[in-house]
Formats: sequence, structure tokens, C-alpha cells
Amino acid sequence: ATPTAVMVGTGVGASQGILIKGGQALENAHKVNCVVFDKTGTLTIGKPVVVNTKLFTNMVLREFYELVAAAEVNSEHPLAKAVVEYAKRLRDEENPIWPEVRDFVSIAGHGVKAMVRNKEILVGNKTLMVDHNVALPVDAEEILAEAEAMAQTGIIVSINREVVGVLAVSDPLKPAAQEVISILKSMKVRSIMVTGDNWGTANSIAKEVGIETVIAEAKPEQKAEQVKDLQASGHKVAMVGDGINDSPALVAADVGMAIGAGTDIAIEAADIVLMKSNLEDVITAIDLSRKTFSRIR
Ligand code: ADP
Ligand code: MG
Repeated sequence: ATPTAVMVGTGVGASQGILIKGGQALENAHKVNCVVFDKTGTLTIGKPVVVNTKLFTNMVLREFYELVAAAEVNSEHPLAKAVVEYAKRLRDEENPIWPEVRDFVSIAGHGVKAMVRNKEILVGNKTLMVDHNVALPVDAEEILAEAEAMAQTGIIVSINREVVGVLAVSDPLKPAAQEVISILKSMKVRSIMVTGDNWGTANSIAKEVGIETVIAEAKPEQKAEQVKDLQASGHKVAMVGDGINDSPALVAADVGMAIGAGTDIAIEAADIVLMKSNLEDVITAIDLSRKTFSRIR
């Protein structure tokens, strides 16, 4: 393509809310034959809501959520926002004052740990519990499995290393997700999902959206490794993501595409920004590149 054609292509993208950072990004997009999607906030809406709670303690719901909210209020994670929102609604207050927190630590891909009222609170997934020698009651295992089968994410809460409750959070697919995957298929582009979420939930979501290849429980570096493996097997890879945890993979990909509503770090790491946060624009971007680069050869 001529420099003028590339400029026109980039301009057309911009007018449609697709920010293409330079001619190379536009050029690479027409070679893409594999798209790796992050799950949370990319394929799903990314505003999870608490849909179920099971307590294994004589604490009342309000008291339980007070502790959980205190532990999670300093986390940026969408799941943390979901539990804090739920706790607020239980209190029926816009800006409640949560119990004081000491020693807050966010454990990437696993959850959070904090001291609240002189008790150690852990909120997160199974790995977080295993890593802290917290035993999972059979009842809790069952509830987690049920949640995962319904494409929900189960979150476990322990106090002083004892499981006191499990909650289920639902984050539905974006309305366009299924169609985007099926159009990509018709364009001979393979779709893959990578997520830090657990295998059960990941498989349920993948099935719903029509993706066959899934990598779950992936740390940020493993998301990037996945991209590199696909490249090593001859794929031209686009990565679509919204989170800090997607940035290494966005950089590794031939074309990194960030969801506009995502974190600043993801937007910086990407070659293309989908300003309207529409999943359809993954296709629009590839199309635009194909149109710009297939004519003049
Ligand atoms: P994703 O790739 O889906 O955006 P992450 O890598 O951020 O997921 O997190 C992986 C998993 O770790 C989550 O699905 C959740 O089970 C657990 N987790 C991470 N952060 C938190 C948190 N603040 N509260 C509860 N669970 C969390
Ligand atoms: Mg995400």
C-alpha cells in the first residue's frame, strides 16, 4: 500500500473510533489468522454482580460482607468492585465506612489478604486458599462447582484460615460476543480465550461464546507465553484485552488491541485501541487492514 493509502486507512479507523498507532499496526492486522481474547471485561461485560452467597458461620450476611468489603475496598479488580457494591446495598448506604484494614496485600490472579479487626481475611480463589493452607469444606467445593457450571466465578472467604463463606459472581457475555466469534470463523480466523479465572468457569463461558480453545488460570506472563507459542507455530496473532494482566500479551502479539474502557496500562501496551469498546471493532479493524493492503500489491 502507498503511504497515502495507509494514511487514509488510519483516518477511516479514527473516524470509526478505532485508534491505530501507526502504519505498521494497520499493516500487521491484515495478516492476522488467530485472535486471542481475554475473558473478563473483553468477552464479558466486565461488571460482575454477586448472585449468591453461602455462609458456613453464624455471622449474619451484613456482618460477613462488612469484613469482605473492608478487605476488598482497596483492590482495583472487577470482582472486588462487585463485592463492595453488594456490601453497600446490604447497608443501604452510598459511602459506608468499612472497618479499618491493616496489611492489605493484593495477590495478582489469586485475590486479596488483609487484617480486619485483628483477624486475617483472605478473599479469592482456590489457589489462594491452598497457598495459605486453608482447607476447603466439601460443601464449599460443591457450591464452587455449581457456580462454575453456570459460568459464574466462585469466591472463597476465610477468616483466620477457616472458610466462612463462598460467594458466586456473574459476569455475562457482551451481546455481540457470539456473533463476533462466528464471523471470525467465517473469515478463517481462529479464536482462543485466555483468562486468569478458573477452568470450570472459563470452559462454561467458552462454550457459550463458541470458542473451542481455552487457557485458564493463566498469570499475565503465561498469557504472553501463549501468544508466543501460537506465533512459533506459524500464527499471526492479535490479542484483545482490557486489563493490566493483559499488557505483556498485548505487547507480545503481532497486533495488540485494547478495549477503550480498559485500564490505561492496557491501552498504552496496545497497537490499536477500540475506543467504543465494541467487540465488533476487532473485525472492523482487520477488515480495514485487509482493504488497505490487499489492493495494491
Ligand atoms: P482475568 O484474566 O479473568 O481478568 P485475573 O487474573 O485478574 O482474571 O484473576 C484470576 C482469578 O483470581 C479471578 O477469577 C478470581 O478468582 C481471583 N481474584 C483475583 N483478584 C481477586 C479479588 N480482588 N477478589 C477476589 N478474587 C480475586
Ligand atoms: Mg480482563
